Amino acid sequence: MQHTKSNELFEQALKRIPGGVNSPVRAFRAVGGNPFFAQSAKGAYLHDVDGNAYVDYVCTWGPSILGHASEPVLGALRKALEAGTSFGVPGPLEVEMAERICQSLPSVEKVRMCNSGTEATMSCLRLARGYTKRDRIIKFEGCYHGHVDALLVKAGSGALTLGCPDSAGIPAAVAADTICLPFNDAAAFQKVMTEMGDTIAAVILEPVPANAGLILPDPDFLKLLRTETTRCGAVLIFDEVMTGFRLARGGAQEILGIKPDLSAFGKVIGGGLPVGGFGGRADIMDWLAPLGPVYQAGTLSGNPLAMAAGIAQLETLFKEDGFARLEKIGAALENVFQSALKKCGRPCSFTRIGSMFCLYFTEQPIRNLEDVKTADLEAFRKYFHVMLENNVYVPPSQFETCFLSLAHGEVELEITAKALAKALS
Ligand SMILES: *Cc1c(COP(=O)(O)O)cnc(C)c1O
Repeated sequence: MQHTKSNELFEQALKRIPGGVNSPVRAFRAVGGNPFFAQSAKGAYLHDVDGNAYVDYVCTWGPSILGHASEPVLGALRKALEAGTSFGVPGPLEVEMAERICQSLPSVEKVRMCNSGTEATMSCLRLARGYTKRDRIIKFEGCYHGHVDALLVKAGSGALTLGCPDSAGIPAAVAADTICLPFNDAAAFQKVMTEMGDTIAAVILEPVPANAGLILPDPDFLKLLRTETTRCGAVLIFDEVMTGFRLARGGAQEILGIKPDLSAFGKVIGGGLPVGGFGGRADIMDWLAPLGPVYQAGTLSGNPLAMAAGIAQLETLFKEDGFARLEKIGAALENVFQSALKKCGRPCSFTRIGSMFCLYFTEQPIRNLEDVKTADLEAFRKYFHVMLENNVYVPPSQFETCFLSLAHGEVELEITAKALAKALS
């Protein structure tokens, strides 16, 4: 497989872009080698500048749930483009997007759009702090909430991959108000809430942590988060940037049967354009400016192109029974992985929920970040490169989740099975 053009582009990029990339995990540092540069993407495939095609299990890190460049999204974008790329005054698509989100999630009575998942979680925190008039927050190890200062503490993939669990440049005073606890550890959480629950502004988590590989939540743990935050008057924030409109129409909260106070969104709701959003209880959301004292804004928030692409993607998912179909594809893919693992006799942990999955190079059942860290990173490196050589692109880090789209079908599963046979042997 040739990578001449990609390598040339990377060399050029290294001179002008730090690390040659605009987001760190793209640099392939965890697996070695140079990243390939995309020429285009369609359906389940990424096409690189050297003419190679890959079955894509990254799906632009989650957003392209219908497959790349899907017709509904492209059609909506063409139409929206003709009407103008940004208005700076409210537009009808923003109202439609808000309706769609609120109708899909009973916990969301009001919603505001922004431009990234990072903005969404950052705004949730400020809102929760303004509303409760408290500073302290609780997050969980391995949960990633974007590159928000207060939340870049034991934050999963990017930081783990680069071997720096905390970022430089975060004032100690900012991190000091962040309490970081192990995920799925009811006793540790209970202890903190008993000791200082009445000083906690918010508890934020990925209900299904998907940025340290994929960790499944213990239902009782989530129930405890709900009852304790209610008891102490803290705001429960579900970061559904990854899981929202991916696991179900009502996100992870629908599947898990828990109603958070606020939720953050991104990825799938933008149809592949830059987007974020956050929403929840009206009495909390009304603390936002211009109604309330908590400031939050965005020049391009509710951008008509992003709204059009997102709405088209959601509409298609709902109309075509997308979530049930994704579960079917997910189950078939799990079979492919499990039988390949059985054949080669490798003991590996495999986690999956719907269209998200992760193969861990460890026998350890995965319940928290400590379990994740037992993975054999050298084994992952080898696996990654053999998969790539055989036209299958999985995320370039053991600490990332794989994604499926509605465009993944039998042909792609076959290609995957063949690659797996080589990569695991
Ligand atoms: C991707 C992600 C974010 C950050 O979103 P960006 O759009 O990259 O800023 C936040 N939280 C979770 C759970 C994510 O997966």
